Amino acid sequence: MPIIDVAVPVPLRQTFSYTSEQQLEPGVRVSVPFGRRQLIGVVTASYNDPAGETESEVKLKAVTEVLDEQPLFDATLQALTQWLATYYHHPIGEVWATVMPTRLRKGGALSDSVPALTLTEAGQAEAQTPTLRGKKQLECIALLARGPVASEEIKTKFSNAVLKALEEKALTTQTSIRLTEKQDWASFSLQQTPPVASTEQGVAIAAINQQASHFVPFLLDGVTGSGKTEVYLQVIEPVLKQGRQVLILVPEIGLTPQTVGRFERRFGINVGVLHSQMTDLARLKVWQQARRGELGIIIGTRSAIFTPLKRPGMIIVDEEHDESFKQQDGLRYHARDLAVKRAHTENVPLILGSATPSLESLNNALNKRYTHLTLSQRAGGASHTQLKVLDSRDQPLHAGIAQGLISIMRSHLQQGNQVLVFLNRRGFAPAVLCHHCGQTVDCKSCERPFTYHKSQGRLQCHHCGASRRMPQQCSECNSHDLQTSGIGTEQLEQGLGQLFPDVQQVRIDSDAVKGKDKLITRLDEINARKYQLLVGTQILSKGHHFPHVTLVVVLDCDGALFSADFRAAEKLAQLITQLAGRAGRASKPGEMWLQTDNPGHPLLQDLINNGFAHFARQALQERKLGALPPYSSQAIFRAEAREAGLAANLLQQIRDCYRASVNVAKGQFIGPLPCLIEKRQGRFRYMLVLQSQQRAALHSWLKHHLPEVEALPLAGKVRWSLDIDPVDL
Ligand code: ADP
Ligand code: ZN
Ligand code: ZN
Repeated sequence: MPIIDVAVPVPLRQTFSYTSEQQLEPGVRVSVPFGRRQLIGVVTASYNDPAGETESEVKLKAVTEVLDEQPLFDATLQALTQWLATYYHHPIGEVWATVMPTRLRKGGALSDSVPALTLTEAGQAEAQTPTLRGKKQLECIALLARGPVASEEIKTKFSNAVLKALEEKALTTQTSIRLTEKQDWASFSLQQTPPVASTEQGVAIAAINQQASHFVPFLLDGVTGSGKTEVYLQVIEPVLKQGRQVLILVPEIGLTPQTVGRFERRFGINVGVLHSQMTDLARLKVWQQARRGELGIIIGTRSAIFTPLKRPGMIIVDEEHDESFKQQDGLRYHARDLAVKRAHTENVPLILGSATPSLESLNNALNKRYTHLTLSQRAGGASHTQLKVLDSRDQPLHAGIAQGLISIMRSHLQQGNQVLVFLNRRGFAPAVLCHHCGQTVDCKSCERPFTYHKSQGRLQCHHCGASRRMPQQCSECNSHDLQTSGIGTEQLEQGLGQLFPDVQQVRIDSDAVKGKDKLITRLDEINARKYQLLVGTQILSKGHHFPHVTLVVVLDCDGALFSADFRAAEKLAQLITQLAGRAGRASKPGEMWLQTDNPGHPLLQDLINNGFAHFARQALQERKLGALPPYSSQAIFRAEAREAGLAANLLQQIRDCYRASVNVAKGQFIGPLPCLIEKRQGRFRYMLVLQSQQRAALHSWLKHHLPEVEALPLAGKVRWSLDIDPVDL
């Protein structure tokens, strides 16, 4: 009887063998008994039992059910999954569970259509002029008015009673939704005349086009607004013409209808979109269509890197430096690194684009492992933003802004331009403290001050999300004199309202703008000049174009200048450069002011005088001297426990396991140390860094002792994880 090896979704670093009626191809899903459970796994190998039939039949259980006739995953995706398990030292079954769309993971079949509910003519009329009383029924009608909805989805949103009532009134009826559509996208014709490429764009486009038939990694290093997206549009045209598919990865926040629309408008073809807020069914549809070759362009966030492609032609990672490409739990993969691996396996070109490349990618470009393409000029004659530092020491502040800056803001506003004020701290104030004894009001489980949110009248912990009412008095000395300390965006907005009472203002942070739709509406309103003053956090720094902004003000960047995280400088420089790119897009010149108590700080001076490219090369030199990534490779063991001692103890024991061959690996330990956020949700967090200047040596070192680590009694009690190539401490 044939034996098959199955990757089962359990936290064990191995596959499991079963007997099977027939040989099964790798990549086929099967349902198998596992302990007392029934699990869905993926076949990784199939062979005849070398030990003879009787023995295997005694020892091994049989496959319960074969779920696919054909492998769901082609050889490339199978190889990629195996690589993920090896490189990230992650259980293969759990890797498969990450790679697979949720519905397939749960055993759902690939199908051409699913049952759905739709409105009848009477239902359409009801949607136009509602007469029903039931609120839920009306909601359901309103939802269906936008198109049919899969029965399984609508059942999760509305009760049986509601659905039945609508059916009985003949307002709804059964239909189906197709999950597949034949599309002849390769015969598209351009819907717009592309702009004439600039000289730099032309060089980049030619370089990529010449190498479009095999794997070449390109770093498209172009300042914001230099026309990187235009380069993507022009290089994918010949790829699509050959009937080959293009996969584009973008950061979570960059995936807007505007981005997708640019590609759709140029080629007039359907673009497949994949992101985490879609329903499982909608994701499966795009997944299936990409797999069948029915989509020419697929744009998605991190996990879209797992999308199967029938005829892959090119992979693009836009804003490749963005941290959202790194998964921060479970299988902690980096989608950009995986894109390099995948492009290599598929033998297609790869473009990594950014105005502020990660030091890792820049280093690869400087070493000639990647082809370095630069766009130093902004497209369409827009000028560069000038960066300046404002010394806020001993200056009177209003709403946290120095007097000198207020005058500059006023003059920009008076000229009818928009001003963007950036502060990376939401809420009203980052702390509340007792004016009498100085005690702050802290979140008990994180031992950090609560942030005061005035609009809700509540305190909120920004580490664990806990929330409570504002206390009446100090818990230490019972004084009633509690005061807020520091400034968040909510207070900034209020203060700016007093300083500029006649100016329309909008605040963009995750409190003010919940949900993507609202963000997109606000961004459109900003570009329609409904507001002159824009206040916000990180969200404002990413990807959006604000052509009428001529002044960017950055408040309080001092924290990052003295962070314990060696990546803080890189991140701050990226943030400042990205923000600067928001201003002066059109022919209006822009300026940017950094308000700081450390005007002479070498990082700020370098950035201002020499720009990001120079800063990044300096930073690489420093990393080299310190033997830090990318000149060494790191892995972090993290542990957390309610008892501080336990987490640190486990890491000490892990360190002891690895000590045995530290010299062979040319390895180094940092820690165990408390994490930068030492306590969260009542758990103490510790980390142990393993580092080596030789990547391969680090990996065999990790692999060699992992079984010992897993056998540690404490490892079964304390929550721990392993993070390869961490981007955060
Ligand atoms: P990036 O992706 O680098 O931020 P975009 O591709 O979005 O830059 O280009 C910025 C703006 O300049 C867009 O409005 C785009 O249409 C325009 N643009 C890009 N390339 C050209 C060109 N060669 N000629 C004229 N306008 C261009
Ligand atoms: Zn007190
Ligand atoms: Zn907390």
